[in-house]
Amino acid sequence: MTARRPLSTARLAYLDQLEAVERLRVGILGGCPDCETEPDEMCAGCGRCQCHTHDTCTRPEAAARLRLALTDDTRETQ
Ligand SMILES: [Zn+2]
Ligand SMILES: [Zn+2]
Repeated sequence: MTARRPLSTARLAYLDQLEAVERLRVGILGGCPDCETEPDEMCAGCGRCQCHTHDTCTRPEAAARLRLALTDDTRETQ
């Protein structure tokens, strides 16, 4: 492995700033910078991010799909 030319201090500071700005942006818009969850990727059920386990939340997307399946079943059997 060849050693890479070390980044200059200015370049490192710039990258730090970029990351800080990105974290700020995600945080302000309602996302979570810690797990890099974009605002529109937050859990629709509980509004939390991937830092949480979501053990207790119902996920509307899955629930809606289940309800749809149940409705279809009911319709067919009646
Ligand atoms: Zn998070
Ligand atoms: Zn959730």
